Order: sequence, then C-alpha cells, then structure tokens
Amino acid sequence: MCIFCMIANGEIPSNKIYEDESVIAFLDINPTSYGHTLVIPKEHCDSFLNCPDETRNHVFEVASKLANKLEQTLHCDGINILSNVHEAAGQSVTHFHVHLIPRYKDNDSVT
Ligand code: 5GP
Ligand code: ZN
Repeated sequence: MCIFCMIANGEIPSNKIYEDESVIAFLDINPTSYGHTLVIPKEHCDSFLNCPDETRNHVFEVASKLANKLEQTLHCDGINILSNVHEAAGQSVTHFHVHLIPRYKDNDSVT
C-alpha cells in the first residue's frame, strides 16, 4: 500500500502538525530545512495533476494557513511551497503532497 496512505490512516507513525477530516500535514522524515512539512489529502490521488479540484483546493488552503503559521512560529526568512509531479520532476512518493520548506538566510541546515 502507498506509504502516505499508511501515514494518513495511522499505520505508520508521523510527526503530525495538522489534521482535519480530509487533510493531514506532518514533518518530512528527511527534511531539507528545519520545519520541512508535507501536506497531503487523506484520500489517495497520485499527484497534483490527477487530484479532484475540491481536494487539491483544500490541500492548498491548508498549506497556505500552515505556511503563515510556520513563518510566525519559526521566524524563517522565506518558504518554498511546491509539489513535484512525476519522477522526472523529483516525485518519489506517488501520493499528492505539497512541500512547505522554510528557508533561513543565515543558517539553512537541519541541525
Ligand atoms: P517527493 O520527492 O515525492 O516530492 O517528496 C516525498 C517526500 O516524502 C520526501 O521529502 C521524503 O523525505 C518524504 N518521505 C518519504 N517517506 C516518508 C515517511 O515515511 N515519512 C515521512 N514523514 N516523510 C517521508
Ligand atoms: Zn496514497
């Protein structure tokens, strides 16, 4: 089964930072920067391109709120908000997800 479906239904543990009836957000296991977060729909769809509009819109609504929260709480200097589609673009997990990657001017490392 898809690894993000397993995270969504609790079969695999994650550091969850948000959950509602159709979306969850959790910390990336291999973060690019401190606070690197993934926002996913609970219902499986392969990528941004084949996700139902309503689901995709809700994922981005949550991503937007969380990006504001990350900025306020982590005091980062910027955030990359992105979704990779297909392997050639860097997608390694075929369950739609949005990356929120806080960026820091002085120290971008994860330690
Ligand atoms: P992609 O490369 O598909 O855009 O992003 C997939 C992301 O999922 C990667 O940044 C990777 O570190 C993260 N990831 C893969 N497996 C797991 C996992 O089991 N738990 C968590 N929290 N993140 C994962
Ligand atoms: Zn899935």
